[in-house]
Amino acid sequence: MKFSEDSDQAANYLRQAIPTMVKHSIVPNPLNYTLWYSYFSDAFPELNKELDQAIERYGTCPAKVGENLFIQHISQLDNEDEEQLEAFQKAFSTMVNNLSDSIDQTAKQTNGFSAALKENIDALESHDLGADVAPVLNNLNANASAICDANDQFQGQLSAAQSEINALREELEASRRDANTDPLTGLYNRRVFEAIYKQFMEEESEDDLTLIMMDIDKFKLFNDTHGHLLGDQILKFVGKLLKSECPESITPVRFGGEEFAMLCPKCSLEKGQEVAENIREKLAAVPFNNKKSGAKIPPVTASFGVAMKKQKEELSEIIERADKALYAAKDGGRNQVQLAS
Ligand code: GH3
Ligand code: MG
Ligand code: MG
Repeated sequence: MKFSEDSDQAANYLRQAIPTMVKHSIVPNPLNYTLWYSYFSDAFPELNKELDQAIERYGTCPAKVGENLFIQHISQLDNEDEEQLEAFQKAFSTMVNNLSDSIDQTAKQTNGFSAALKENIDALESHDLGADVAPVLNNLNANASAICDANDQFQGQLSAAQSEINALREELEASRRDANTDPLTGLYNRRVFEAIYKQFMEEESEDDLTLIMMDIDKFKLFNDTHGHLLGDQILKFVGKLLKSECPESITPVRFGGEEFAMLCPKCSLEKGQEVAENIREKLAAVPFNNKKSGAKIPPVTASFGVAMKKQKEELSEIIERADKALYAAKDGGRNQVQLAS
């Protein structure tokens, strides 16, 4: 982890970063915060050298240079590793939130300070201090107002930066959702299936884990008879049915094509069989209508293979056994559930 997760320490880096940014007229956008936060946390020594060079050369860090440094040193954070990227984003938004709080506080203090200063100046003005002192007082007055204005401006920039971060966070969330979801059925995809298995294994639990594989029967024929579009509607319907019939602990996924899979944590083989049998029955009981032609379409059926994880068995081996049971269900006449040995 390259960034501190200790919020006091993070705030401390920021306290050093902000005056430096102000001093070198660096725009307070998220990218620059990250650069200067990194600078003070010493996360990337090479970055520090290059930032020093930029300041020496330009007296500031020009936007283009900042962007390049960001891409070169920070966004390269092991892009393969989603967890690391996520941790980075979390640390980054914590950092900006902290920053917002500390700026708020500073602004209040400074505003209070300049109000007090003005009061004192007014009090002084009520005395006859002579012509020499009047310009000094005016100067003081102007300085106090300038501090307030600068603060207001900085706060404005900060809230703009924060909205930018919120928008980025939402975008990231949406792209993560897209990557995990099958757009047709709205079910999760195989990626999530694998993640669920991984999480189960990481918990090192002794609990049972049962896999249900489901495959729609004669679906090619269905498409050939009723058209691909209606086929899609059936897949959507199956998606909804799986969502409503699976208990909360079971996340159904579209495994591919007309195949679905359910990993059932804390489920014995018999419990898995029960879940599969219920889905099979419900699906086989629903006839459809072709809205265009008005034709009645008999229910679609599916076959199921159920396998319970054996000790030391890999996911691919469980899938293989569940698939074998599924083939047996097809061989046995379809619209049935078979258990793996
Ligand atoms: P079986 O009972 O042996 O499983 O027969 P099947 O016809 O279902 O199996 P097969 O593997 O021969 O065909 C699967 C069909 O599923 C063919 C393919 O067009 C259809 N399919 C896969 N994905 C989609 C999809 O997204 N939409 C539609 N409409 N059809 C799909
Ligand atoms: Mg198939
Ligand atoms: Mg099929």
